[in-house]
Amino acid sequence: MSFSFNNNHFFYRTLGEAMRREFGCNVWKVSVDAGLSCPNTGIIGEINKHNEINKYNGCIFCNINSFSPSRRLVNDKSILTQIDKGIIQLKRHYPKAQKFIAYFQPSTNTNAPPEHLEIIYNEALKHPEIVGLSIGTRPDSLPDDVLNLLSKISQEKYLQLEIGLQSIHQKSLDFLNRRHDYSTFTDAFYRAKKHNIKIGIHLILGIPTENRNDIIETAKEIARLKPESIKLHNLYVVRNTQLENYWNNNNLTLPTINEYAEMTVDFLERIPPDIIIERIASEASEDFIIAPEWSKIKHAARNTINKLFLLRKSYQGKYYTNN
Ligand code: SF4
Repeated sequence: MSFSFNNNHFFYRTLGEAMRREFGCNVWKVSVDAGLSCPNTGIIGEINKHNEINKYNGCIFCNINSFSPSRRLVNDKSILTQIDKGIIQLKRHYPKAQKFIAYFQPSTNTNAPPEHLEIIYNEALKHPEIVGLSIGTRPDSLPDDVLNLLSKISQEKYLQLEIGLQSIHQKSLDFLNRRHDYSTFTDAFYRAKKHNIKIGIHLILGIPTENRNDIIETAKEIARLKPESIKLHNLYVVRNTQLENYWNNNNLTLPTINEYAEMTVDFLERIPPDIIIERIASEASEDFIIAPEWSKIKHAARNTINKLFLLRKSYQGKYYTNN
């Protein structure tokens, strides 16, 4: 079995194909930076919201500027201007792009009162080429009043919540300095599901605290939850992060490209075939990536993963069992 569209064959269900089914045309995500902050960042040494002394500034892999440097760094505040500029860039690279989803990407995009969030989301929806919203956030930043707002919007427009989980394992959440546990995620997930909100889950593969069994356990658990989509990232080192310190002090081992392909295929073989795989490896501006080297080569991870699927005669969901 393979997933096929327009003579292109995939071993997993891609976002492009899912968008064409949903909208009947080619839809791309255009990043928007609403200038919101993240509850997991603060000043090192300060008492944080968890009543602990902040050891690191946010998740150890995160440099918020690396998400969309052209926007946060130039301080381009207007959402409509960001969308206009983003669409021009996307159309230059992908001439087939026809419609767009505003992707509130950097930081935690539900970390504000609902009244403010409603203004910024509606601003994006005013753009004539925007057909929906994708909102990136953390599991501990989804109170009921925000979910009520998202539910209201989703009744009229396409809306997807992208929740950063990264791992179901507490040892990994601690290593990454996520400052939430897995039950915080499941609580937010089920409350969002009650509102019929589409959910995408972000996960990191290649965390040094995890072995193959841990990754397979994560895959089975995510398969049980059945989100609408998944984004997979390889752990990679970005400038100006705690992870950079680990790397520079030889305290970090990252998977080779072949090891990453093995863990990704192991993972996807256990994921239901109807779940959309939005991404199978990390993407960041070359200006920010330090390691691994293979992460700097466009499509290298994807090509290696596809070759391994072919070699194993495998595909997404091959070992998925619905029980
Ligand atoms: S990855 Fe997300 S949750 Fe973690 S510090 Fe960065 S913006 Fe905050």
